[in-house]
Amino acid sequence: MYFLMTNDVEHHSIPLNREDPNLPEKIYNVGLPLLLDVLSKYDISSTFYFTGMFAEQSPESMELVKDHGHEIGCHGYDHSPNRAFDILNLEEQIEELKKAKSVIEPIAGKITSFRAPALRINNDTVLALEETGFTTDSSVASQRFDGPMTFGSKKKLKWLTAPRKPYNISYDSPMRRGSSGILEIPISAAIFPFIGTTMRISPTVTKGLQKYMFYEAEKTEKPIVFLFHPNECLDINEKVAITRRATGTFEYIFADLIRQRLKLKNLGNASLRLLDEMLRNAKKYGFEFVSAKEYKSLYWNGD
Ligand SMILES: [Zn+2]
Repeated sequence: MYFLMTNDVEHHSIPLNREDPNLPEKIYNVGLPLLLDVLSKYDISSTFYFTGMFAEQSPESMELVKDHGHEIGCHGYDHSPNRAFDILNLEEQIEELKKAKSVIEPIAGKITSFRAPALRINNDTVLALEETGFTTDSSVASQRFDGPMTFGSKKKLKWLTAPRKPYNISYDSPMRRGSSGILEIPISAAIFPFIGTTMRISPTVTKGLQKYMFYEAEKTEKPIVFLFHPNECLDINEKVAITRRATGTFEYIFADLIRQRLKLKNLGNASLRLLDEMLRNAKKYGFEFVSAKEYKSLYWNGD
């Protein structure tokens, strides 16, 4: 039974609901050390997906992660919604990946693992990843259903039919099994996503999810993929303002207002306590913690 603890490192500030140029410094000084401590406590090998922009501004954060023995992967170059991979064409996606690699690899060495910003990918992404030397993707959240609570949610309806266990992506659709060289390692979900945000918004829902994921992993050998962010380890110490991103009223109410207020729950120490408890349970249950790269090279048996 394998558990992939995955961490996305980006400029997005949860309280501000937008990119924050000052975030890398806070992550390096506060969020990252706290998270790395919890991972060390349980002897966990994990993957940190960095955006190129973050890597450029804070190479010391990559050094720190690398020194702790974790894998470094790529979370695109730019995390802004108007550079999402699902609205970029093939050439633009290749450009974005090359740009990210050019700042990450001088420090991290050759990287092969990818997760798209906001999990937004399209049919060209598999080709862009092959072209730039990646071998795994973790942007599909099989059977996750967000309703109107997220951006790009209409496209994400396709998640409902994606395979649950890891699969080689089809050239026809990232949600289908096929013959490409890219292994999709789906983020765990069962309607609700098994991620830090859900854990903080509703520890109760997450306990139920956890129980189901552990059971499923035991029965089917499906690896668990949990998604977390070091910025969830930061306490709110600035005034909270809601940044409006949606254009329509309906989208504004759900995707900005409600979602944003919920996302502020249990940040900082509360988040670390919840994470610590979940990881302790996983360890006790008998999971082996591996990075995306280790999973593909050592444990995936190709079915
Ligand atoms: Zn992200």
